[in-house]
Amino acid sequence: MDGAETGGIRLALANCRRCGRLFNKMGHDVCPSCIHEEENKIAEIRDYLREHPLANIYEVSQGTSAAYEEIVDLIRTGKLLLRQYPNMTYPCERCGAPTQSGRLCMNCAQELGEGIQMYDRKYYNKKPYTKNRNGGFYSRE
Ligand SMILES: [Zn+2]
Ligand SMILES: [Zn+2]
Repeated sequence: MDGAETGGIRLALANCRRCGRLFNKMGHDVCPSCIHEEENKIAEIRDYLREHPLANIYEVSQGTSAAYEEIVDLIRTGKLLLRQYPNMTYPCERCGAPTQSGRLCMNCAQELGEGIQMYDRKYYNKKPYTKNRNGGFYSRE
């Protein structure tokens, strides 16, 4: 996969999807400090939704410290499961239909079938949203 070979030791280094920092990816796509931050945001989002079950993503982003893109990203990556909240939808990346998990609506996911793997890759190569808080550094390509 994307592991780097360094003096015989296998390291799975990756840039954190959130802050861009280089870290030893152990089954995560964000670094430990961002995982912590994500957990806090998830808790915040859940609290907000408990009080406002009909809120949509925009409203949640206004009511919490999580940005719209962050919330969508958490849902897409399966970290936040919101099927019981009918208005927490975002547009399918292909056809724009309301979606509550993954990048594509059910129809598109089915239609693309095996194409999803390729699509995934394309998505990952796209520049992820970066906030670079904490003065995180970026590794040079
Ligand atoms: Zn990070
Ligand atoms: Zn679709």
